[in-house]
Amino acid sequence: MAKGKIKVTTENIFPIIKKFLYSDHEIFLRELIANATDATKKLKALSSVGDFKGDIGDDKIEIILDKKAKTLTVKDKGIGMTEEEVKKYINQIAFSGAEEFVGKFKDQEDAAGIIGKFGLGFYSSYMVASKVQIITKSYKDEPAVIWECDGSPEFSLKNHDKKERGTEIVLHIAEDSTEFLEEARISALLKKYCKFMPIPIQFGEKSEWVDNKKGKKDKDGKIEKEEVKVANIVNNPSPAWTKSPSSLGEEDYSSFYRELYPMNFEDPLFNIHLNVDYPFNLTGILYFPKISPNMEVQKDKIQLYSRQVFITDSVEGIVPDFLTLLHGVIDSPDIPLNVSRSYLQSDGAVKKIASHISKKVSDKLEELFKKDRADFESKWDDIKIFIEYGILSDEKFAERAKKFTLYKTAEGKYYTMDELTEKIKPTQTDKDNKLVYLYTNDIEGQHSFVEAAKNKGYEVLVMNTHLTAHLVGKLEQTMENTTFARVDADTIDKLINKNEDIPSKLDDKEKEKLKPVIEEVMPKEKFTVQFESMSETDQPMTIVQPEFMRRMKDMQAVGGGGMAMFGGAMPEMYNLVVNTNHPLIGKILKEKDKKKQAAITKRTADLALLSQNMLKGEELTKFINQSIELI
Ligand code: ADP
Repeated sequence: MAKGKIKVTTENIFPIIKKFLYSDHEIFLRELIANATDATKKLKALSSVGDFKGDIGDDKIEIILDKKAKTLTVKDKGIGMTEEEVKKYINQIAFSGAEEFVGKFKDQEDAAGIIGKFGLGFYSSYMVASKVQIITKSYKDEPAVIWECDGSPEFSLKNHDKKERGTEIVLHIAEDSTEFLEEARISALLKKYCKFMPIPIQFGEKSEWVDNKKGKKDKDGKIEKEEVKVANIVNNPSPAWTKSPSSLGEEDYSSFYRELYPMNFEDPLFNIHLNVDYPFNLTGILYFPKISPNMEVQKDKIQLYSRQVFITDSVEGIVPDFLTLLHGVIDSPDIPLNVSRSYLQSDGAVKKIASHISKKVSDKLEELFKKDRADFESKWDDIKIFIEYGILSDEKFAERAKKFTLYKTAEGKYYTMDELTEKIKPTQTDKDNKLVYLYTNDIEGQHSFVEAAKNKGYEVLVMNTHLTAHLVGKLEQTMENTTFARVDADTIDKLINKNEDIPSKLDDKEKEKLKPVIEEVMPKEKFTVQFESMSETDQPMTIVQPEFMRRMKDMQAVGGGGMAMFGGAMPEMYNLVVNTNHPLIGKILKEKDKKKQAAITKRTADLALLSQNMLKGEELTKFINQSIELI
């Protein structure tokens, strides 16, 4: 029997490991199973090149829980280790890795955060075990050995009578970690970290109902079923993303989606299969989920794997920000895992991966758009939020997205920006040769404005996401001689000013007279009176909110926009547009009875408020009551 001292400068491993790893104890199981998987894959590789001539046989990894003995065992049938190899890989390499780790992160505040991403390997078993045994037999013709260590620097190494090839790691679970002796806990961990590992993993047995062997029939002549116990395999060793896209159909993609998110009942809209091997290795499947407008977008749905081993489901910094709204899997051994998040974000390889994913996504969207435009249009309302987010946050994506970004009109038609520009140029160019795009964010609420625009033969776009204000700003910046105006930002003839002057029925003196009458009933701080010479058939009064004002407010609401100068919330300001040609306005002006004049003025203004959805509460009740009295 060999005895020795593990070369670790610290006297006892436990305190250090526990101190640093408290938040992520559970990763030990992933680490051990990943080692078992590697050992099995190595054996297969040796076999395929003829260096191992024996029979690989059943290669599954077993997880064995023994509550009585208080042990948890990870058992593989991989290459195993000889005595020399145990000395080298376990005593020197595994422990020196740990020593280096401790040295590096001892003084760091955020050690816990870093460790989550730090593959500690075999050593991490000491987070939960007070003693660990390794019983291993190499594929080479050498006797098996048992290595044992209770976390002190001393270990023992002796021969063992294990006959079958492979390694068993036996964890004697520590008093403070007995949660890892619970079947449910281990089951959950296997599901989280090992669901798609490449070698079958067995955890106990499960029942299955099969035709009985004796062929016994029930009274209806049907073969009776009997219960048998079968191995409970917890993983799918060849998940869809590891297969070639050409071998998969739509059904395979949607069933894999259900496998990933059993609790998500809504089918995704479409998927993108990533498959790159140069200049880096990357595979995966991304899904565009269906988002209903009143449902919060769920981030943190993309899972990151490294060679089928689950790493994390927070992919910030790896996937472009706007794509974190997608679902699915990304698998890359080229993403450095043992580093902090800030390092990850500045890593060159990671940046390349991010921009590649962004390109793949735009390629796919373009392909879908070209292949079946009607289908693409039917999905547009669900995906536009991703695309708007992408356009605003990723310049290159914005450029590529021009080809397939759609704009929906109030009529329910979809146009690309080029098509739209072509269509509205003859009608919506104003006297200064500026092309004016009209939009609404609320077709119902702005109904009268939308109708007024339609009557003129103008197109009104429906732009109603919380990114609209930013998007409109960006479009104006990038498109020359163009402006966007919300339909309720002014009267339609002002929004697209073609200088078709209508003579005003009121002169300046009369306007001067009328102004204080209106200001008497509509507070000046909120409403600025503005006289317009409009058609007699237009509304007598209209409430509008100037485009600039409203956009600043919108931007403030979603953050950004440089609003500090207003020292907090912006005031709510509107223009009260008075149609100087409407008969009612003339009537108000001529009314001698002051009380009556104020009453008609108020009522006319209230009607304008009502059509803007702005008449509420007590004011609304008053208005209704007075109207009833009148009738
Ligand atoms: P890493 O896996 O990062 O190399 P570990 O500390 O997990 O570090 O393991 C150290 C070494 O011990 C491995 O590289 C491997 O050679 C050996 N080893 C660990 N577990 C097994 C196993 N189940 N079968 C065979 N060899 C193993």
